[in-house]
Amino acid sequence: MHSELPAVPGTTPMPEHRVAISERGSFCHASCVCGWFSPARRSRDLARREAADHLAENHDPA
Ligand SMILES: [Zn+2]
Repeated sequence: MHSELPAVPGTTPMPEHRVAISERGSFCHASCVCGWFSPARRSRDLARREAADHLAENHDPA
């Protein structure tokens, strides 16, 4: 037998966006809990900026 979790009415199924900066050697990349991630960058600032852009895009839909 299999059981499924009951859907809770009134909740939004959209996942929240939470980015984290990961460092690997001299490279950094930003990843989000929604599955998005940026390419590896040599600049941590650039990775952070791309993370901020990702959040901004999803917080302010055109
Ligand atoms: Zn996201």
